[in-house]
Amino acid sequence: MLVLEEHDVVGRPVACSGHVSTKIWDVIPYNEKIIENKIRAGVLHVGKRSYEFRKKDVVSYVLCRDALDRYVHSLATQAGAETWLNSRLTTFTQHKDYVDVEIYNTQTKEKTTVRTKMLAGCDGPASAVRHGMGLKDPKMLHGVFCYTDERDERDFVELWFDIPKFFAWRIPRGASVEYGLAVEKGSAKYYFEKLLKEQGVRPTAFHAGLIPYGLLPRVSKGRVFLCGDAASQVKPFTGGGIVYGMTCAKIASEAVNVEKPQTLEAYERAWRRELGKEIKLGAAVKGVYSTPLLEPLIYFASKLDAEKMHMDMPTTLVKAVKRR
Ligand SMILES: Cc1cc2nc3c(=O)[nH]c(=O)nc-3n(C[C@H](O)[C@H](O)[C@H](O)COP(=O)(O)OP(=O)(O)OC[C@H]3O[C@@H](n4cnc5c(N)ncnc54)[C@H](O)[C@@H]3O)c2cc1C
Repeated sequence: MLVLEEHDVVGRPVACSGHVSTKIWDVIPYNEKIIENKIRAGVLHVGKRSYEFRKKDVVSYVLCRDALDRYVHSLATQAGAETWLNSRLTTFTQHKDYVDVEIYNTQTKEKTTVRTKMLAGCDGPASAVRHGMGLKDPKMLHGVFCYTDERDERDFVELWFDIPKFFAWRIPRGASVEYGLAVEKGSAKYYFEKLLKEQGVRPTAFHAGLIPYGLLPRVSKGRVFLCGDAASQVKPFTGGGIVYGMTCAKIASEAVNVEKPQTLEAYERAWRRELGKEIKLGAAVKGVYSTPLLEPLIYFASKLDAEKMHMDMPTTLVKAVKRR
């Protein structure tokens, strides 16, 4: 397997908080070295009220995001993958038995063509592979965040729902604190500056990125398929895509046979069986943000047993209601 990465290092630039549920360790082996903090609770601020959702055990981890990429890359290398850095996929052409991939070397400025049996587009929210497949883009949020040099090892994240159609967050990262937000439209900068002022924050570094969301009708065509943000395999109500994307990558590794392009149908079925309902319900939950229904929903959820709910699976909210 050949991995193409357009940057000169793996994991940079960072455009993600790296806050993931414990489910991450269902997909990759546990690694204490990449954990910055362990989280047991979330405090949601809506209007003038705050609601705490707390569990006894660790619910999620704050991971060093670039270390996560380097770790996953080392696992891929151990499994036999070869990596070309500074290598940007620009376009590709599908044939009956193979795909020709055009690569631009961002250092030497040279162009190369590589022939492959199958192409997996794991190239993020603005996926060139998705564009090459002629598929429609998913909806996008604009995310922005910064770090401060406060130390904070407490075990809860905070969310503020006073920005349009999404939320702002504070993540204690141990040696630093992260403040961020995402917005659908309008000015992320305006709301971010407001957040920093309200919180009295003096940032040390800024990061930004796109967050795709919503279920795409197809993520494969011929000998090409998408995975991760390229496929919009993201939780619409939080913007988290690490666990969903990795889960789908694992499903692809089990379902897809590069000799048989028809196995991509099995991938499509299997990942939708695993996450389709969660993404649809997650989109419905997101639809409630910035409406008068949000506070009653959070109030109602705060009365349910937090132990029965999972941050990656909005269907567990419905199950917790049924089991009341
Ligand atoms: C502000 C923000 C905060 C977030 N916080 C969280 C969070 O706390 N938890 C969570 O689960 N998710 C979070 N996410 C979402 C998360 O970052 C993504 O879901 C996740 O990184 C998707 O991984 P991916 O490998 O699919 O795509 P990416 O991480 O985008 O990786 C794509 C890779 O492909 C490379 N690439 C792109 N195009 C090409 C090309 N043409 N040729 C060669 N290489 C290419 C890129 O350089 C990159 O290395 C956040 C996103 C944002 C924007």
